[in-house]
Amino acid sequence: MAGEVFRDWLISELGSGGLDAKKVCTISFMAAASGACGVSDLGYNPDAPSDGHFYSHLKLVLRLEAINSKFYWIRSPMTGKHAQGREKVWVPILNPVEEIENQFSGKLSDFWGEDDWLESLEEHPVTEMAGEGNRDEILPYSFYVDATPFSAESFYGIFITNLLTGISALCAILLKSEFCQCGCRGQCTLFEFHSALGNFLGAWAHKKHIDKRHDNLDWLQSDSERRDRAGFPTK
Ligand SMILES: [Zn+2]
Repeated sequence: MAGEVFRDWLISELGSGGLDAKKVCTISFMAAASGACGVSDLGYNPDAPSDGHFYSHLKLVLRLEAINSKFYWIRSPMTGKHAQGREKVWVPILNPVEEIENQFSGKLSDFWGEDDWLESLEEHPVTEMAGEGNRDEILPYSFYVDATPFSAESFYGIFITNLLTGISALCAILLKSEFCQCGCRGQCTLFEFHSALGNFLGAWAHKKHIDKRHDNLDWLQSDSERRDRAGFPTK
């Protein structure tokens, strides 16, 4: 258990840029040699030359290429196993619009049909403003949150769905026991998630990639692809 927490912490520090690859490999190498559990595969000989060996090792072990291009790290107030009391912890989320729209290449107007719920979409001010001929411009997303019990714990998931195509993405998942407990009923934790998702959705509504992070921090190491396409038009 302690080994898992230690490993999770090392990985989240690596993702957020708090520790570089050499430090993560060296700490893991020494910890494993001292008898620590759960991190031996992250370890790499500290005497190795620093010309990319450490990062290459972690890239292989953790499949970092996939992680780096997909996850967006946010810093949210939490309480629980990763935090000593209430503190800001780095957690990964997915960009909902990338997850949804990259799975779809047809014409959205083909999905407008006779479903009952579509009446409210037909009468929506945005639909009326767009007019009949511009329905491919309308992206009706739903925002859905749900908690699922698992053993003695509950997972809290945030889903975004394109109501026309039905394509859905699970953007974030977190343990309810880790929500902030300052008396806010978890709102401190959720605010950061909603703010980050709103930044992605707002940019997409203007057919652009985000031009800055939702929290106004500098781009992280894991944001390199986002930095390169900041403000550029989407497909
Ligand atoms: Zn709070």
